[in-house]
Amino acid sequence: MKAPNIKVTPPGPKAKAIVEKDQRYTAPAYGRVYPLVVKEGRGMVIEDVDGNLFLDFMAGIAVASTGHSHPKVVKAIEEQARKFLHICGSDFYYEPMAELAERLSRIAPGRSPKKVFLTNSGTETIEAAFKLARFATKRNHVIAFLGAFHGRTMGALSLTASRSSHRAHFSPLIPDIHHAPYGQADYLEQVLFRYEVTLEEVAAIFVEPILGEGGYIVPPPEFLPRLKELCQRHGILLVVDEIQSGFGRTGKMFACEHWGVEPDILCAAKGIASGMPLGAMIAREEISTWTRSTHGSTFGGNPVACAAALATINLIENGLIKNAGEVGNYLKESLTKLRSLHPRISDVRGLGLMIGVEFAQNDGKPNAKFRDQVMAKSFDQGLLLLSCGESTIRFCPPLIVKRDEVDTAVGIFDAVLTELDG
Ligand code: PLP
Repeated sequence: MKAPNIKVTPPGPKAKAIVEKDQRYTAPAYGRVYPLVVKEGRGMVIEDVDGNLFLDFMAGIAVASTGHSHPKVVKAIEEQARKFLHICGSDFYYEPMAELAERLSRIAPGRSPKKVFLTNSGTETIEAAFKLARFATKRNHVIAFLGAFHGRTMGALSLTASRSSHRAHFSPLIPDIHHAPYGQADYLEQVLFRYEVTLEEVAAIFVEPILGEGGYIVPPPEFLPRLKELCQRHGILLVVDEIQSGFGRTGKMFACEHWGVEPDILCAAKGIASGMPLGAMIAREEISTWTRSTHGSTFGGNPVACAAALATINLIENGLIKNAGEVGNYLKESLTKLRSLHPRISDVRGLGLMIGVEFAQNDGKPNAKFRDQVMAKSFDQGLLLLSCGESTIRFCPPLIVKRDEVDTAVGIFDAVLTELDG
């Protein structure tokens, strides 16, 4: 399948019919970005129901890490599905769960022994980390950062502060949560601990090593190490949210490895199982103090999802991390070259295959309208992109992406910008 190949301007007739039915029956909460109606996915390519082929540079929001329906992942899923689909890992035992827990504790950063709790999603992983942080420290207060996205269930939402509309009308949220500016470790000591909360009351600091939904922002190099040092000094747990940045996306297995930081708790999901619903909370054994039945989940660590994760990790370890680093650099260089041609691009940033292109107006203010036009036009041309932050487009393709696919994507992006610049 060679993509892109747009035969009918999307949405075509079949897509329109499905969108219409969907809109009649699904909750209006969903924030659909453009009318992509998927029939099939293979590798880097998505085919819609009208036969259009799209080049995927968003990977279902940074999830399809090994590409769509990688044969080895599908094989692992099929084999496990033939054996059994479910037995509840909170109450019983099965090999894929034990094997995955062992594997995750080995690949997690740092040398301390780890304990793994499996969930079905990112937000559930954050909930587990939140509960463990309070349980283990017997402290109540938690610090998170402005611009951060940690999920949408009530605990995770209370930590999330990437858009006020995510939080609007859901209050009261969980109390005793403090938000600090992202990237500014000084603020904690100079403002938070001075005016708002004492150090002894703080259970945990939740942080994304690179802001995801908040705009693909890479913090200053000292940020994460300073948080780690602060946490160690005061018995606070450092919870690193690697839900978007983990599993090879930034050219390391986990992004916090770029700064040599071992978290007390690492939260993972998204790319972990190539699209099967799975999340993992990996905690240092020393702080994984909860006792029997203090937490659990009917579906968390589903055997089919575990099998998919094991196959995914094999693929990521055997070439995809390296590819993400190398092709990611190439993608960033190619996008950076566009800056001089298109003055509305105000920044190109990121690590590995987590690259953001930001747009600004002449006066330097964020240009969300232009960003949305670029995204919509790219879709019409067969290139799938996604927004983040106020006025940024993120490039987060599957980790299998090749240089020639980068050339195609950047070529379309360039042409779209030229058309809209005119
Ligand atoms: N944390 C981060 C950094 C995320 O990017 C997301 C989702 O975008 C979440 C948490 C929530 O994950 P989920 O949508 O699987 O609940």
